Amino acid sequence: MSDPILVAPPAGAAERFRPPVSAASEPFWEATRVPRLVLQWCRSCERPVHFPREACPTCLGTELEFRPASGRATVHAVSVMAKPANPTMDGRGPYAVALVDLAEGVRMLTNVISDEPATVAVGDAVSVAWEPLSDGRHLPVFVLDPSR
Ligand SMILES: [Zn+2]
Repeated sequence: MSDPILVAPPAGAAERFRPPVSAASEPFWEATRVPRLVLQWCRSCERPVHFPREACPTCLGTELEFRPASGRATVHAVSVMAKPANPTMDGRGPYAVALVDLAEGVRMLTNVISDEPATVAVGDAVSVAWEPLSDGRHLPVFVLDPSR
């Protein structure tokens, strides 16, 4: 595994929203302290599950476990926010909000961090990066993958 990519918030940006932790999502968020990306997998049908939950959305199996994820993804959809959508995004606009398809086969809502967010396009290869949260966790975001 390569070293994690860390991204700093823009100078003067508001503090990020700290996502609440549920029993189902706790292993996901604990792994972000490393930081490391993990995905929930269903042991019954061997499919990845995201977001973390109590039962598999495909087979309703409850034998779910977390496994390391590659951190590689492709942009499925992207929208550029010219103004912050809420107070926790103050000082960040314009920024790219994206749905990315992870290599493992699940879709994640995230930000693609770029100096030129308007150039982020559907089909772009991206890699996970991490923005520190004030509680020691990291928020998974994505950056354009320079190697592809
Ligand atoms: Zn299943």
